[in-house]
Amino acid sequence: MLLDYTLWWWHWLNHVAPPLWRFHLVHHIDRDLDASTALRFHFGEMALAAFFRAAQVRFLGVDAEALAWWQRMLLVSILFHHSNIELTSDADAQLVRFIVTPRMHGIHHSDREEETQSNWSSLFTCWDMLHRTFVYGVPQESITIGVPAWKEPLTTGKLLAIPFEGQRDDWLGNA
Ligand SMILES: [Zn+2]
Repeated sequence: MLLDYTLWWWHWLNHVAPPLWRFHLVHHIDRDLDASTALRFHFGEMALAAFFRAAQVRFLGVDAEALAWWQRMLLVSILFHHSNIELTSDADAQLVRFIVTPRMHGIHHSDREEETQSNWSSLFTCWDMLHRTFVYGVPQESITIGVPAWKEPLTTGKLLAIPFEGQRDDWLGNA
């Protein structure tokens, strides 16, 4: 549980710390959520996350078996909540009491800044409930996925270069 809770803080930090957001932004630029979005992270973010994971293991004193189980559940959860699996609203609403669902995570990928600044949980949803950052009452039809400043088609090379270039005003026009 502490691995999952500290990961909530890491995701939050990726949004509020500009040097980290440069990398995490690349994941949010994807304009269509499906299971492949779960794998579309900049290598810079992956490398920083590996250091964070090592620190989690070191300071929380997690044993190998607990770590392996949490990582397996986390991988399934990340593939699931980025996917376009069509759950009924009722099934989603039941599941979201415990784990992150596609509907909940879709709000986090909205192109409205105030909606993106919510739903930072990755596996269990209790962390967003604890911090009052759980947002669920947004109709799915009203959500546009992506970041307003990045609507044009981008090559892989451009995506990889984004963190190292001058930054755009990401939310301009949609605040
Ligand atoms: Zn995010």
